[in-house]
Amino acid sequence: MILGMKTRKRDLNDMLKFNPKILEFHFSDSDLNLELEKNFEQELIVHCFEYFDRKLLDIVSLEETNQIHSREKSLEYIQKAIDKTILLNEQFQGKTPTIVVHPGGYSINTLTESKIEKMKDMIVDSVNQLDFKNVNFLLENMPPYAWFFSGRWNSNVFLNSNDMKKYCLETGLNVCYDLCHSHLYCNKNNVSVVDELLQIEQYVEHYHLSDAEGEDGEGLQFGDGDLPFEKVIPILNKFKDKSFAIEVWKGHEQKGKGFEEFLDKVKQAGLLVT
Ligand SMILES: [Zn+2]
Repeated sequence: MILGMKTRKRDLNDMLKFNPKILEFHFSDSDLNLELEKNFEQELIVHCFEYFDRKLLDIVSLEETNQIHSREKSLEYIQKAIDKTILLNEQFQGKTPTIVVHPGGYSINTLTESKIEKMKDMIVDSVNQLDFKNVNFLLENMPPYAWFFSGRWNSNVFLNSNDMKKYCLETGLNVCYDLCHSHLYCNKNNVSVVDELLQIEQYVEHYHLSDAEGEDGEGLQFGDGDLPFEKVIPILNKFKDKSFAIEVWKGHEQKGKGFEEFLDKVKQAGLLVT
């Protein structure tokens, strides 16, 4: 697979030392003003911010609250990130840039089935309201729980391969598949992450990798969780032209020590990386 490195501007030099073919900029809302001083030989991915003005974005938001933006506002801010991605791409290799977006679908309490269905039904229509003709737009699958504002929230949409596949068929778009998120969903629902991967692989363009444990143990170092890498790696090795980025929690610190450890271990376990 093709190596991409997650980065912020301040970590760029550390991440370039990994010789990635792709730089995946993890945006916060202030990065709408990001200026880069040089040009890059890498391809550009932007991971869209999850918050804007300290409120969560949610493209299937049922109502605005003091912690979640309305659907309209969320789409407006994501559009700004798309437009910024296109501008930034002038400093990267000529290819079309990619933007990775989390759909949202968050709730602090458990929602009724009918509310969850309502959210699910909004995804395609929301995405179609965005102007993404000059970017490669990839929606990312969510874990069942997520930590926001120091509390555990529910993610209600885009958790499994069925929902992703349906979306891909309806929109003609591909996805970013986060194996850690998927494994957490699988642990909660007694499903196999290998089966999920095999169901969705043909629609995946970019992978996020980290280990995972239980229902909410996210972003773990390789081997610290129970993701069955020994079964996953041979499948991933089929995709020489697809890319991945490592998402180990705090992996960027100390010049990318956590990322380096993950990369070494996943290679030792057999992942072919170019
Ligand atoms: Zn991810």
